[in-house]
Amino acid sequence: DIAPIRRALLSVSDKTGLIELGRALAGRGVELLSTGGSAKALRDAGLTVRDVADVTGFPEMMDGRVKTLHPAVHGGLLALRDNDAHVKAMDEHGIGAIDLLVVNLYPFESTVAGGADYDTCIENIDIGGPAMIRAAAKNHGFVNVVVDTEDYAPLLEQMEANDGGTTLAFRQKLAMTAYSRTAAYDSAVSTWMAAQQSDSAPRRRTVAGSLAQVLRYGENPHQSASFYLDGSARPGVATAQQLQGKELSYNNINDTDAAFELASEFAPDDGPACAIIKHANPCGVARAATLKEAYARAFDCDRTSAFGGIIALNQRLDGATAEEIAQIFTEVVIAPGADEDARRIFEAKKNLRLLITEGMADPREAAQTIRQVSGGYLMQDKDNGHITADDLKVVTKRQPTDAEMADMLFAWKVAKHVKSNAIVYVKDGATVGVGAGQMSRVDSCRIAARKSQDMAEALGLSAPLTQGSVVASDAFFPFADGLLTAAEAGATAVIHPGGSMRDDKVIEAADEAGLAMVLTGMRHFRH
Ligand code: 5GP
Repeated sequence: DIAPIRRALLSVSDKTGLIELGRALAGRGVELLSTGGSAKALRDAGLTVRDVADVTGFPEMMDGRVKTLHPAVHGGLLALRDNDAHVKAMDEHGIGAIDLLVVNLYPFESTVAGGADYDTCIENIDIGGPAMIRAAAKNHGFVNVVVDTEDYAPLLEQMEANDGGTTLAFRQKLAMTAYSRTAAYDSAVSTWMAAQQSDSAPRRRTVAGSLAQVLRYGENPHQSASFYLDGSARPGVATAQQLQGKELSYNNINDTDAAFELASEFAPDDGPACAIIKHANPCGVARAATLKEAYARAFDCDRTSAFGGIIALNQRLDGATAEEIAQIFTEVVIAPGADEDARRIFEAKKNLRLLITEGMADPREAAQTIRQVSGGYLMQDKDNGHITADDLKVVTKRQPTDAEMADMLFAWKVAKHVKSNAIVYVKDGATVGVGAGQMSRVDSCRIAARKSQDMAEALGLSAPLTQGSVVASDAFFPFADGLLTAAEAGATAVIHPGGSMRDDKVIEAADEAGLAMVLTGMRHFRH
């Protein structure tokens, strides 16, 4: 199953490693065919190259839209070398076999990411490249297709080991990589086109990404894992620059994403905010006059859980905050920037990973989320739901005070990022109790209050932190029990979507307890 390589077609946008590859192939007596820019680069390096235009008898035309789309190329890639009729057709039409195709595509993804205009993006959709890649990959019984500069060296090693040829197993692997590349490429085009439309519902979308990193392992050490990029330029864990620390793990990436998305709910212009995440749930979120104070208040919500957590900030990290953070073990800090002092302080903490995003994400941006189930995928619009004070409906006799209102809106934003059933107690712009991921809402209310009580004891306070707080629930209270638990813990105002069959009973209970209650009319389940 060793197929020899006698003739190669090289057509690459990214010219990295092209000359070295061309030279090594020529050194093995391989004839080189190439398209305009690639041919010029090879020729400038002193190599003998035949132009594809010479092979097809047609010049490259229409701004390069038509270069290689010709039977002399596609016949040479697709012909079965052991099929008499195919060989006869090659003879009859003067088609020479092409045994190796080296292509990397027009940089569509980076053109989009760079913010290019519509026409430029369109012109960067490669047509001939994917056509050749798919043809060569189909005929991997005979043909080698290389789409990644990382595969140049392994190809040459194969040729060295197999007298100038390659094994079928190797060609199959190349073909698999080739099809995943064209699939990801078309998916990037489709995603971009969806974004150009006002109605970008996830109907008929294809999911694919480009491999960014093979991870050390997955959620657990016995699971292998990798990280794929969808080509979006959005600030976040995928596009951040890591300044220090070990490679991010699977769980780090997941948690860092949760942290940064939550911190992004708080516009930098509205003042410093900090979110601390453990196991994808916030264990402390706060806003304050300074970033250092925001961190300290977030930390005070649940100091025990914050250990080994992931911190996201909505402002440039400064020295004072960095010093405070450096007091305990933290896995990751992600922020839009970090000043000199902060970087110096963190340098001493070798294991701390520092990620810089150069901006915050837009929590209202339209996007899609994907989740896997056995045998399929679920795709939905990202939860970019947003409410303002004007959307709230007060349903109790007592109106909330301005301070309660501000805290309820804050708690509501946090609740959106807590796994359901989510209960969030907030006081003076900081969470003081978070109940996450329970199967019953009343349990989430109890757990959050209980943790808050523990924290108050640890801090040597006489009253639980939930005393005089407000509480947010990500979905309606089906019964009054959860609400009454919150009232017992000291909450004075409640924000939740409403919409239960028993809303009347819940409102009645709120009135009896002297609570103020507002309904959002919007739910924030998160599973
Ligand atoms: P070069 O720099 O050699 O002039 O062009 C290389 C690029 O052209 C590669 O990215 C390759 O995928 C692309 N390409 C090759 N043939 C065609 C074609 O017929 N049409 C289009 N649109 N692109 C092609």
